[in-house]
Amino acid sequence: RAHLDRIAAVDGDVHAFLHINAQALDTAALVDAARAAGEKLGPLAGVPVAIKDVLCTIDMPSTAGSKILEGWVPPYDATVVAKLRAAHLIPLGKTNMDEFAMGSSTEHSAFGPTHNPWDLDRIPGGSGGGSAAAVAAYEAPLALGSDTGGSIRQPAAVTGSVGVKPTYGGVSRYGAIALASSLDQVGPVTRTVLDAALLHDVIGGHDPRDSTSLTDVWPSFADAARAGQKAESLKGLRVGVVKELDGPGFQSGVTQRFHEALTLLEQAGAEIVEVSAPNFEYAVAAYYLILPAEASSNLAKFDSVRFGLRVNPVGGGTVEDVMSATREAGFGPEVKRRIILGTYALSAGYYDAYYGSAQKVRTLIQRDFDAAFAQVDVLVSPAAPTTAFKLGEKLEDPMAMYLNDVTTIPANLAGVPGMGLPIGLAPEDGLPVGIQIMAPARADARLYQLGATLE
Ligand code: GLN
Repeated sequence: RAHLDRIAAVDGDVHAFLHINAQALDTAALVDAARAAGEKLGPLAGVPVAIKDVLCTIDMPSTAGSKILEGWVPPYDATVVAKLRAAHLIPLGKTNMDEFAMGSSTEHSAFGPTHNPWDLDRIPGGSGGGSAAAVAAYEAPLALGSDTGGSIRQPAAVTGSVGVKPTYGGVSRYGAIALASSLDQVGPVTRTVLDAALLHDVIGGHDPRDSTSLTDVWPSFADAARAGQKAESLKGLRVGVVKELDGPGFQSGVTQRFHEALTLLEQAGAEIVEVSAPNFEYAVAAYYLILPAEASSNLAKFDSVRFGLRVNPVGGGTVEDVMSATREAGFGPEVKRRIILGTYALSAGYYDAYYGSAQKVRTLIQRDFDAAFAQVDVLVSPAAPTTAFKLGEKLEDPMAMYLNDVTTIPANLAGVPGMGLPIGLAPEDGLPVGIQIMAPARADARLYQLGATLE
């Protein structure tokens, strides 16, 4: 009730939600009844959770921020949503996002932008700005996001929240509307590291319905976070600072808070080492070939027949005419831009020059991570180059928007886990600054241990 009241009070200004779950209070009553009947419930039972609209929910529309899916209610729950329900969390509603998760500001949503609760004239990050803003504005205590190139970690950073992109394959992608399947991961957005760990414990684990799901048995991330809360918890841990992601190009207040955080890590017993990842320089370029290539293929299913919108051309026409009129009306400009880029990069004459080269760069970036993790246990960088920028500032300049992802994209290309978490406010503008922690694949627990130390 308190969260629904808070949504009613502030969401007119913030616009974090696209849909509110009308059943939320009924579900809460059922959880209360189960508790009263002595049923043994998990640690997050009864806690409301906001769900990014990229995730399929059987009882709520799932639009991925696009007109082409407006009003579409999926016939099934994403595995992560089913897990939330099984653990007795209460879905509060669906959160706003850049259309098909393409963007860094939530301004590409077909349903209007989300505003940053710290300053309503500023972006809440993207693509999962709705989930991060909902958490930061106390409209929801927990949220789910998806991260293909930073869409959990960057919104967390610019709203003063905690966001985690798990190891690729650690959390099921079944029922997450695909952007780029080799990069997408679902993960938690919360106010504390322990909350993120508890939520990750609920949504993680093997899913036979996702062909890239890992079969690992994962440790308790909540235990890892609790271990990090103890003094001197990082004794002997080697923390690598990525040279290429520190200094020039970063806002001065971001760099200042980042270096203060390094000092805190040292005080907790960690050893700080500088490491170089020379190929990170090419990560954004490679990503913006691989992502559009995969996205153009994934979005081919929105053909006016199988899902959502159908536009009939005036005077009738062929199936192709209906398809093209629907895609023309249903997709926004950023989605069209990426479909064209991806289709071009995959076309017969250019495949080797663009997509093929980008895949080679991806391998080089993975090798940079391997070399770095041979020297250190975790890597750190600022989570984003700047604090939240103004709404409209980068909307007309796609390159400027893309470059904002320089810090977060390498982890997706390599499949390694990353966390964004708050480390104070930038002195020059009073807005939240985030640090990013990255760990080797499967070592997500280290993020929670280290993250809890910094809180
Ligand atoms: N901002 C990045 C992009 O536009 C990241 C998106 C994401 O992680 N979904 O592709």
